[in-house]
Amino acid sequence: MMMQTPLTMTQMIRRAEKFFPKKEVVSRTGSGIQRFTYKTIAERTKRLAESLQKLGIKRGDKVGTLAWNHHRHLEAYFAIPCSGAVLHTINIRLSPQHIIYIINHAEDQALLIDPDIFPLIEKVKDQLTTVKAFIVMCAEGEMPETTIESVYNYERLLQEASGNYEYPDDLDENAPAGMCYTSATTGNPKGVVYSHRGIVLHSMALGMADSAAVSEKDIALPVVPMFHVNAWGLPFAAVWFGTSLVLPGPYFTPKLIAELIEAEKVTITAGVPTIWLGLLKELDENNYDMSSLRSVLCGGSAAPRGMIKAFEEKHGIPFMHAYGMTETSPLVVISSLKSYQEELSSEEKLNIKAMQGILVPGLEMKVVGKDGEASWDGKEMGELAIRGPWIASGYYRDERSDEAFRDGWLYTGDVVTVDEEGFMKIVDRTKDLIKSGGEWISSVDLENALMAHEAIFEAAVVSVPHEEWQERPIACVVLKEGYKGTVTKEELYTFLQPQFAKWWLPDDILFMEEIPKTSVGKFLKMRLRDQVRTMSSELK
Ligand code: AMP
Repeated sequence: MMMQTPLTMTQMIRRAEKFFPKKEVVSRTGSGIQRFTYKTIAERTKRLAESLQKLGIKRGDKVGTLAWNHHRHLEAYFAIPCSGAVLHTINIRLSPQHIIYIINHAEDQALLIDPDIFPLIEKVKDQLTTVKAFIVMCAEGEMPETTIESVYNYERLLQEASGNYEYPDDLDENAPAGMCYTSATTGNPKGVVYSHRGIVLHSMALGMADSAAVSEKDIALPVVPMFHVNAWGLPFAAVWFGTSLVLPGPYFTPKLIAELIEAEKVTITAGVPTIWLGLLKELDENNYDMSSLRSVLCGGSAAPRGMIKAFEEKHGIPFMHAYGMTETSPLVVISSLKSYQEELSSEEKLNIKAMQGILVPGLEMKVVGKDGEASWDGKEMGELAIRGPWIASGYYRDERSDEAFRDGWLYTGDVVTVDEEGFMKIVDRTKDLIKSGGEWISSVDLENALMAHEAIFEAAVVSVPHEEWQERPIACVVLKEGYKGTVTKEELYTFLQPQFAKWWLPDDILFMEEIPKTSVGKFLKMRLRDQVRTMSSELK
């Protein structure tokens, strides 16, 4: 029998310190770009762990972060779990009510806060029931003025630490290491707790050659926020593997992302489609050297086929579509072509790349249709269910767990088809599918088709109630800058007609200035549906 050594996160930061002390973390904060070696990051991480202990943080205590992607947040990513506490990353774009709810629900004992987010916390401070220490993540000279007691400066705490701290060796691999709340359709956000073991195994999956293949040779730029499913786990894998990191900091623009990729010779970057649509526009308008990029990882919502084509064929940048959720750490499937699929035509290959991909090793999936498991024929739809060592087994102290977690499986609420090759395609969220005359219409398919039109920047399709057909689709489109006023509805219908059955075509196409988005940059279909339903009833 093999040894039972625990899969804990301490081995990750220790490995970076021992094997990759010279490798770099480039960090952009409110005060500019700084460079650190992993040696320095590892030392500072231990100082932070020691400071938290001095402030009374014990094993199992939750420590919240309200921060952008930068080196101090990276240090918190390891100092908190490696000392036995729980890293609770808080989505700073949520409403103050939801932020108050999740801090109280998680029972955070301390908060690490970016200076620009501090005013928000100051306003709601009296409603926070468990927080004993507020640590502002900036240099001493950048401290905001405040009347709150128990406010500490991050750099001062690190200076005052002895530097003799060592991580405990007896952490349990099944102990909680992190947590993150995901927005619910209705009601308060739901908490997901990540174990050390889950994070270690998920990081291994990110390193697999047919997955994201994160390695020491990479320079990784996580654009996806560190408060959105741990920046998809990239910072954990990067530190463990000695990958250089580029952290883009607050309020970045597509221009800044393009400049960082060029200047730092980034090889892999990750973000939601909205980010990549913005970058594409920047690349179309200005010249950058993007030749270092080997992979643009895209997930969070469906990557439009037209966008993948533009990245790959117009700009020569390899694109990689992936799917996951907060509940799944997040990586579940990833679109990497099989060896024999490389022989296909470029259009056929694009069709495959536009699908979300195949299951990563280590997980199990099933597709539950109307009458049991759906067949893998690329046509029959069903709800995707998943299980595995980095999949949550329930929501944190939440009665809503039973809706999604049944018989040892996570029911994702995503409707999918799987083809004969095992490639999964998201058809829709269960609640976003459009049911017209008893048949399903995929809003995602219509959106993808519209976004392939040269004049369209973004498109979202939602349903409106219909007396005869129950529901009908309405398309909302945002035109690219130079095309405003030049494209008619009729032209867009002519473009869609050859691609879809007649009954799939939207009942109307509405031109909009922008499509409402969620806190993590996805289409906010609920709000859009309300807007469209109000607009269409006003028209009647
Ligand atoms: P979140 O927990 O905020 O990351 O949201 C997870 C949800 O985002 C999933 O359940 C899917 O509905 C959606 N999603 C994630 N990745 C993709 C993708 N590649 N294509 C389509 N939808 C996606």
